[in-house]
Amino acid sequence: MPLGVYVHLAFCPYLCPYCDFAKWPYRASAARRYLEALEEELDSMPKRPAATVFIGGGTPNTYDATTLAALVSRVRAHFASDISHEVTVEVNPELVRADDFPAYRDAGVTRLSIGVQSFDADEARTLGRKHSLRDVERAVDWARKARVPSVSVDLIFAVPGQTPHSWRTSLQRAVALGVDHISTYGLTVEEGTPYASVRARDPGWFLDDAVEAQLYEIAMDELGTAGYEQYEISNFARPGHRCAHNENYWANGEYVGMGVGAASYVGGVRSTHARNLGAYMDAALAHVPIPGESERLDGTRRAGEAMMLALRTAQGVGLRAFKERYDIDVLTLYANPIAEYTSTGLLERHGDFVRLTRRGRLFANDVCAAFLEVPPSA
Ligand code: SF4
Repeated sequence: MPLGVYVHLAFCPYLCPYCDFAKWPYRASAARRYLEALEEELDSMPKRPAATVFIGGGTPNTYDATTLAALVSRVRAHFASDISHEVTVEVNPELVRADDFPAYRDAGVTRLSIGVQSFDADEARTLGRKHSLRDVERAVDWARKARVPSVSVDLIFAVPGQTPHSWRTSLQRAVALGVDHISTYGLTVEEGTPYASVRARDPGWFLDDAVEAQLYEIAMDELGTAGYEQYEISNFARPGHRCAHNENYWANGEYVGMGVGAASYVGGVRSTHARNLGAYMDAALAHVPIPGESERLDGTRRAGEAMMLALRTAQGVGLRAFKERYDIDVLTLYANPIAEYTSTGLLERHGDFVRLTRRGRLFANDVCAAFLEVPPSA
């Protein structure tokens, strides 16, 4: 299996009220120290060829382009750059400069993921975002001029105040920009975020599940009509532009994560660094184990995770391949959830695969979670 490498750059120019990621407001001194800690962690990693590299955050381009490009080169060199065919960097559109992208490209970046969230000015404001439509257009244009092979945008639906019309317009703007890949996520209110406090005071401000489902269907229709393949419940790509790094996650492949809060999955063990910025930097710089948790996923637990991930994809779960890899007969072990969700029209058989139906994608979280619940003795 290919290895994916994830590097977490934890600083943001400001914090968005819905965000549950491991992130901190940018401070130059902390950002410098964090980079040193990352480099120490990188140097401590076993050298192993990686197929994909993903620099995410936070907001990676709070670091200047020269620094970010140098980090990309260093990570690629460590993980045998000659085979890494996809190198993604997430960027905030309001921070990019015209000469950033040639620097990224020269360092081996093949894919940019631009955090747009909404093309509607009111919705962007509601989400706490500060970029304009012009910032996004410029970023895409500069990426094209720098010949970055693949450009993706992230969009959020079910934003308070969003309407089917405004959502459709956002999608159409993304299509009109000619981006290669679009990720669409329904807004979730996570505990501990400012939005959770708002919901406690005023739950009616948020859109209900029925409207969210309607908006998701609009995304499937608009992007399908525009020639984007929905290859995963939240991801749409033009031919040849799927995100290989995320495909490795959904295939239950191995990955290593570096940085505060980052997760790894190697040799059947999933480990996660604690979300404590100071503790992460202190440990990495002192060359002692980074605080966090780890657990071995064995047997039906591992298979349940693999089912849950594979069902997110359009292709679904391959029965023969699953049997070969996990020595588990899917139709026997998961007979009950498969029968239940097939009878309710949320799952279907397609040749050697079990997959979500279009309607099933609306309830993907519930359906996928059901496969985690099969007891080990089943
Ligand atoms: S959504 Fe992105 S930019 Fe906003 S706080 Fe979270 S990581 Fe930072």
